Amino acid sequence: MRVFNFSAGPSVLPLSVLEKAAKEITDANGTGQSVMEMSHRSKDFVPIIEKTESLLRDIMKIPANYKVLFLQGGAWTQFAMVPLNLGAVEFGAPRKKATYIDSGIWATKSAEEAAKYVDVTIGASSADRSYRAIPAVPPHNPNDDYYHFVYNNTLVGTKWPSIPDTGSVPLVSDISSFILSEPLDVSKFGLLYAGAQKNLGPAGTTLVIVREDLVGRAPSWVPTMLQYKTHAAEASLFNTPPCYGIYMIGLVLEWLQEQGGAEAMGQRNREKAELLYACLEESKFFHSPVEKSSRSLMNIVFFPRESDPEKCKDIENRFVKEAAAAGLVNLAGHRLMGGLRASIYNAMPIEGVKALIDFIKKFELSL
Ligand SMILES: *Cc1c(COP(=O)(O)O)cnc(C)c1O
Repeated sequence: MRVFNFSAGPSVLPLSVLEKAAKEITDANGTGQSVMEMSHRSKDFVPIIEKTESLLRDIMKIPANYKVLFLQGGAWTQFAMVPLNLGAVEFGAPRKKATYIDSGIWATKSAEEAAKYVDVTIGASSADRSYRAIPAVPPHNPNDDYYHFVYNNTLVGTKWPSIPDTGSVPLVSDISSFILSEPLDVSKFGLLYAGAQKNLGPAGTTLVIVREDLVGRAPSWVPTMLQYKTHAAEASLFNTPPCYGIYMIGLVLEWLQEQGGAEAMGQRNREKAELLYACLEESKFFHSPVEKSSRSLMNIVFFPRESDPEKCKDIENRFVKEAAAAGLVNLAGHRLMGGLRASIYNAMPIEGVKALIDFIKKFELSL
């Protein structure tokens, strides 16, 4: 039996995608081979990566002056590649500058990694409020070489209500848990990156969308594999890419297009999240700690209203265990944040959200 999987990542994939992949596992497109067995330079695989890219360009309306790269190493490698390519300098040259907004734990980690290569200013932080809101940001510094923020904060369950205006300073965003959850104007950004395992496909592929003028800025000492130029020049085929993951992203994008694309996803995701937040508003035993204007549509964090920390932990443990027994799995909050968290990415059907709401109501009656 399939469960409703609320994991923050790797996370639920559309059933029809998994079934299509299963059907093609030993013979994809009549080639007599699995995609896992294909040479990445073969006439069988190249159309797969090209189709995946063109679907993504269509669905996200990516302008022609942007490169789409399928890389490896997760969002974490981008925490380093972004500063190495947009901020690092040749030995002896004065360091460049970047502003990072500290809206959650991934934002903190990305700023710490960047500080190895550029002078980082933390433009604003909501750490003092346990990251339960996106901080108000000051005007950007026009002398910065780029400006970085995490669009949807997966651990704490917040999302930026709007895109900051940074004039001509390139805007960079980690959209790992935001990508394709609603429409996004790519032209406002210099660079976007996302690990695939939240909303795009299986773990192993990292997507980078980068404006052409920002490719090729890395100083010569940056390792070849960590320069965007290397991958942009070879259409992500410089070395062996994560072929099977790219194929799976292609299947997810086909599904997404059939569902009506990013607009339809945004509508559906808003509907799903509103149902769950409304349930928490009404609940006597649980609440969302996140400020209303900053609430994520993808990761819904909630806590028992109980103030005694031990009783609180007991309720959480019982909730997670009993929910799993009812076929609703992976509802524990992040290990650093505690509480409970329901990640309701694109592939989570509204039925899953309704089943969770029913479970919350039943659970409360049993308390
Ligand atoms: C999951 C996640 C990461 C970490 O991604 P890896 O692919 O494991 O490196 C970074 N940023 C955000 C916003 C995430 O959701």
